[in-house]
Amino acid sequence: MKILVLNCGSSSLKYQLMDMMSQDALAKGLVERIGLPGAMLTHRPKNGEKEVIVADLPDHTSAIKLVLQAVADPEYGVVESLNEIDAVGHRVLHGGEKVSGSVLVTHEVKQAIEECFELGPLHNPANLAGIIACEQMMPGTPQVAVFDTAFHQTMPPEAYIYGIPYEYYQQYKIRRYGFHGTSHKYVSQRAAVILGKKPDKLKLISCHLGNGSSITAVKYGKSVETSMGFTPLEGLMMGTRSGDIDPTIVSFIMKKDKISGDAVNALLNKKSGVLGLSGVSSDFRDLEKAADEGNYRAQLALDVFVHDVKKYIGAYAAILDGVDGIIFTAGLGENSPMIRSSICNTLSYLGVSIDEEKNEASRGAEVDISKWGARCKVLVIPTNEELMIALDTKEIIEKM
Ligand code: AMP
Repeated sequence: MKILVLNCGSSSLKYQLMDMMSQDALAKGLVERIGLPGAMLTHRPKNGEKEVIVADLPDHTSAIKLVLQAVADPEYGVVESLNEIDAVGHRVLHGGEKVSGSVLVTHEVKQAIEECFELGPLHNPANLAGIIACEQMMPGTPQVAVFDTAFHQTMPPEAYIYGIPYEYYQQYKIRRYGFHGTSHKYVSQRAAVILGKKPDKLKLISCHLGNGSSITAVKYGKSVETSMGFTPLEGLMMGTRSGDIDPTIVSFIMKKDKISGDAVNALLNKKSGVLGLSGVSSDFRDLEKAADEGNYRAQLALDVFVHDVKKYIGAYAAILDGVDGIIFTAGLGENSPMIRSSICNTLSYLGVSIDEEKNEASRGAEVDISKWGARCKVLVIPTNEELMIALDTKEIIEKM
């Protein structure tokens, strides 16, 4: 079985054609600058040279057409005909409260994605455009929507309701939704396999630490708390996002700088986080280097980030009433031994004790970096959202 996984952003599109037998990508690629001058596709077949195609791509339909051409190209393609593709799995950002799992795309599902345009203004319109383009280009091929918010729909009300008048929840659906759900679901399922236990026997804290970061408490296989909220701005301080701040700061900056609410929103999303704090970079590699060279603000940014992660782990340990395992994933969680070590160095109260040699050595592979006999395991698990989307898609179409 072959499944095409599509992740449509506002001006970009990532894809992978997965072979479900080997669970490996036959080809992957990226379309950039959709709707802008200089649009291009970079296509990487599994056993071939990368192919860069520059083309005029006014919209997602033209971008997907180009992707499908590349995938079935006689020279650098990986299938002879598009008929070999059994299904398409779409990553969709926001499913609101209506969607609590992956679903076969129907008219109602498309309506639900459209109803969430206001909640995911950059992503949901692009996700829907991708679905419609595939319907046109591959009529009859089943399509499945996998939502970033769905995994967190198991949170209890006390975890998702904010302390503002209840009418705002009823009228505008203002509540915590949580994001990175596909990643948290994938790594928590992998953790159960690595630990040799059933998911419904485990209490886990999943730390997705990348440019965007979130932490989720997973109790017996279900998300019960997560750090991102109504939007992906809440929670940990991130690459360019502030994370949690006192809400009064928004109106205070508006008055002081005489700027609009939208301008403060942009400031908190794009110019804050470790970038704004350090003045160096949003990339943790640059920060680690600058801090090593004695840059105070780079060191401060790293310290605040580590402090934030520890705070959430402590809070979620309390919510879970104990922790069997802590998972590190995503760009930073998978690749920075220093960050993992700094976070874990005060978690002995949870039974955490990591083996520094294993911590240093673990890059790009699934590893248990705990010391032998540690009560709470610490696992590094590379995330694979595309595989999770493909697995969900396979499960749904096999039931059809
Ligand atoms: P992601 O959003 O998951 O792609 O993660 C991207 C982030 O991972 C980048 O901003 C980097 O800061 C971080 N990252 C990737 N590799 C490393 C590394 N070797 N050391 C430290 N940080 C890294």
